[in-house]
Amino acid sequence: MELTPGQKCNRCSRLLENTYSTVYNKEGEVLEIICPICNNIEYLDDYRKDGIIQTRLMTEASMAHYYHTEVFSKGDYDRVRHEYFEFYLQNKKLLMEVAASVQEIHKLVNQFENKHWLPYLKKYWNDSKDRGHIAELDGTTILMWGSAGRVLITAQQGEIAPEVTMIFSDYVASPDDIKKYGDMTSRGGIQGISATKKQAIDIMETLNKAKNIKFKPKKSVTMAGL
Ligand SMILES: [Zn+2]
Repeated sequence: MELTPGQKCNRCSRLLENTYSTVYNKEGEVLEIICPICNNIEYLDDYRKDGIIQTRLMTEASMAHYYHTEVFSKGDYDRVRHEYFEFYLQNKKLLMEVAASVQEIHKLVNQFENKHWLPYLKKYWNDSKDRGHIAELDGTTILMWGSAGRVLITAQQGEIAPEVTMIFSDYVASPDDIKKYGDMTSRGGIQGISATKKQAIDIMETLNKAKNIKFKPKKSVTMAGL
C-alpha cells in the first residue's frame, strides 16, 4: 500500500513515514492506516484484555526495558524519538511486565538449547537433507525448519496458537575455535510468540521435561519470517 505525500495516521494524526501498519477487515479491504505507536498501543490493549504476548509486543517491551534500564536511567532521554520516549514512559509498568515475562520464557529457551538443541538436535538437523521436520509431544506439535545457518523450532498447542518459536544456530565450531573463543554456538533465542506468559511457560516446560524429542522429516513444514 503506497502512502500519499503528507498522509497522516488515522488515529493520532501523526505524519506517517516509512513504517506504518495497514488495518484490514475480514474481507481484506483496507480499514485504516496507522502509525507504529498506535499499532503498539493496540497490541498493549490486546495484552490488557487477554494477557497474550505477540511477537511485536515482545520486541517493543524488550526495547522499552533496555531504554528504561540502560538509557533513561542515566538521564539520556534523547536517544529515542520523542513519540517512542512518550510511549515507553506512559506504558512503563505494562511494558516492563511483558519484558520480565519474556526474560522468564527466554531462560526456558536457554534450557531447551542446552538440553535438546546442542546435545543432539543440532546434529540431527545437520545430518538431514530435509528442511521441514515435525515431532509430537503431549499435545504439543513441534515444527523445525531452517535456512542459511539458522533453525527455527516452533512449539504449538492447538491450530496456530498458543505458540513459541525459538531460533538457533546450526554452526559447528571447530575444537580449536571452542578452545580460543568458547562455544559461540550457544546463543538461541525467542524468534516469535503468540501466547500468554503461562501458556508459553507450559509449552516450554513440556519440551524441557522430555528426555528426548524425536523429529521426523515432513515436507509440508515451512516457515516464513526468517
Ligand atoms: Zn498514530
